[in-house]
Amino acid sequence: MEYNTIIIGGGAGGLMLASLLPAKSAVVIDANPKVGEKIRISGGGKCNITNALMDSTFYRGDAQFVASVLSRFSEKALLDWLARFGLHPVLRKGTQYFCLHTSKELLDILQSQSRKQRFLLNERVLGVHKRENIFYVKTENRTLSAQNVVVASGGLSFPRLGASGIGYEIAEHFGHSIVRTAPALVGFTVQKEQFFFKKLSGISTDVHIRVGEHLCEGSLLFAHKGISGPAVLDASLYWEKGMISIDFLPGFDWSVVRHSKKHLSSLLPMPKRLTKAFLLQFGIEDKAGKCLSSSELDSLQSLNDYRLAPAGTFGYSKAEVSRGGVATDEVDARTMMSRKERGLYFIGEVLDVTGRLGGYNFQWAFSSAFVCANNLGKREKQ
Ligand SMILES: Cc1cc2nc3c(=O)[nH]c(=O)nc-3n(C[C@H](O)[C@H](O)[C@H](O)COP(=O)(O)OP(=O)(O)OC[C@H]3O[C@@H](n4cnc5c(N)ncnc54)[C@H](O)[C@@H]3O)c2cc1C
Repeated sequence: MEYNTIIIGGGAGGLMLASLLPAKSAVVIDANPKVGEKIRISGGGKCNITNALMDSTFYRGDAQFVASVLSRFSEKALLDWLARFGLHPVLRKGTQYFCLHTSKELLDILQSQSRKQRFLLNERVLGVHKRENIFYVKTENRTLSAQNVVVASGGLSFPRLGASGIGYEIAEHFGHSIVRTAPALVGFTVQKEQFFFKKLSGISTDVHIRVGEHLCEGSLLFAHKGISGPAVLDASLYWEKGMISIDFLPGFDWSVVRHSKKHLSSLLPMPKRLTKAFLLQFGIEDKAGKCLSSSELDSLQSLNDYRLAPAGTFGYSKAEVSRGGVATDEVDARTMMSRKERGLYFIGEVLDVTGRLGGYNFQWAFSSAFVCANNLGKREKQ
């Protein structure tokens, strides 16, 4: 047997795992010529590493499973670990931790800490099988053997950065079930009724979006293809099909409108172009608030509960993550080992755990990698 552990994927989870395992105990295989490509481009180039508000409610997935993994390597533990190597992420937007200048700060740490392992880059994994307690990992160029295999190959989003469905294929090969995947943390395309949104491309406004029981707050950005921005990305995590409700004027006190001499486009706390577009839709003139009829006021107040049924999403090419994945009831949260195949592990996005916007997905990749490293370390000593 050539290796103790083969790690499939040198992304966030795979690099953290390789950093934590004893030197020369693992080989990391990645289809990309460079590791950590998503880290590099994440968070607008500054990488939103984690969040000060951290618990299982910020994730879609089994709450107990998520809580168990996070409790073993919390956001505080992650920040302490990074501080040991001189990285002190800064808080932005209230609770989100980002690199100070660029995501390279995080990537450099992961790369230098994982350098003690072997890396095979530019090498696509094609499949895994097991014979007489040994795993065989087949790549485009060779077959490698190991005692353990960790699937850290992520989800389907951003195929141009190496994403593939290999993790799901390996899981299925070993009898795991896959919860249906879909693009998430992604913009929505719109239906005919909202085609007028396209003319508003570039405008951003603060909204509250309701999807079922979930409330997503933040800005909404009108885009060529539909709507995007943090609140929309968050909403996409929960959207299946059907209506969402957007409050374009959260907390607005309508009583000021009745007596106001100001024109609606100045009065309503939204970008003027947006107010004018809605006025046009409702067939209302841009006039003083006090000149509005009751039915016109009613129409405008519907902006607190603007219903729309997205046509779809912008798809995997634009999605930050894939939701769904390897079913977590078939994986042990104390070890990340498959309950179906001893020595087979799953970490990161390939699992059916998806975080909201705000650093939750990196924290998940790092926490699950930590749990896995602990178990592999213990098994090695046995
Ligand atoms: C544009 C963008 C911005 C994001 N910003 C943030 C953010 O700021 N904060 C946050 O928390 N999350 C963010 N995310 C999500 C985050 O990047 C992922 O959830 C996280 O990287 C998942 O880690 P992972 O290790 O599971 O998978 P990945 O980091 O995706 O790594 C998987 C690796 O496996 C490799 N691989 C795949 N298939 C094969 C194969 N067949 N053979 C060999 N190698 C293979 C890939 O090349 C890749 O390197 C962002 C994602 C995107 C796309």
